[in-house]
Amino acid sequence: MIQFENVYKEYSNGVMALSNINLSIPKGDFLFLVGSSGAGKSTMIKLLIREEKVTRGRILIDGNDITKLRKKDIPKLRRNISVVFQDFRLLDKKTIFENVAYALEIQGASKNEIKKSVTEALEIVNLSNRAQSYPDELSGGESQRVSIARAIVNNAPILVCDEPTGNLDTNTAWDIMQALIKINERGTTVIMATHAVEIVNKMQRHVVKILDGHIVYDVEKGGYYED
Ligand code: ADP
Ligand code: ADP
Repeated sequence: MIQFENVYKEYSNGVMALSNINLSIPKGDFLFLVGSSGAGKSTMIKLLIREEKVTRGRILIDGNDITKLRKKDIPKLRRNISVVFQDFRLLDKKTIFENVAYALEIQGASKNEIKKSVTEALEIVNLSNRAQSYPDELSGGESQRVSIARAIVNNAPILVCDEPTGNLDTNTAWDIMQALIKINERGTTVIMATHAVEIVNKMQRHVVKILDGHIVYDVEKGGYYED
């Protein structure tokens, strides 16, 4: 369970990006954070992964207030929360397999563990046949699926996606959604910031809409409605 309690974020230039945010995200949830550009979605994500600090309020993950974490404990938080960005951020010189394997290698996983986990992650995103390709041989949708495989390879319980379909056409976007649905069905909490009205409306999941740093609605099952 993730809880935002009375969260405020004011940037150093005086912009109040978030005001009095109260939000509960149950374990295993599929949450869409919606709202136009500048609403505050990325700021919520940055607070959750401690890329930015709250100005006021608490953010609890399984009861632990992550706003109180010391610098040395942040890597541990980031092992529990994987992030996928709009741009894919793949390593050009590495194969798809190696891109997905990279984080596990750094953690010192064994060759067998790496093989097993990477194979499984590529299966989930439906890219088993591209393991030996290089990023420049893939389409945008395939590249995004690789970045999702890379994010889930260490089995973090929470997956955060910031506009994962932002650069993709409709059909390709649905391939991404299929992968995210599968990941969610395995028990991972998925949080997706998006402007993709059609996707949110079709999915009918938990939707939180932000406008000028405030939550304008929070529905357990719903769509992306105009104000
Ligand atoms: P998105 O809408 O996809 O979140 P933005 O264009 O809002 O992307 O932001 C891109 C990056 O620039 C983010 O890291 C954000 O924190 C930063 N940023 C956005 N607005 C400002 C600003 N007014 N001053 C400094 N950095 C900003
Ligand atoms: P969204 O992700 O919904 O597009 P953001 O969270 O990126 O919105 O931005 C919310 C507000 O905070 C915007 O007014 C943006 O310009 C501002 N902002 C974002 N990042 C920064 C930053 N690093 N410094 C100053 N202002 C920022």
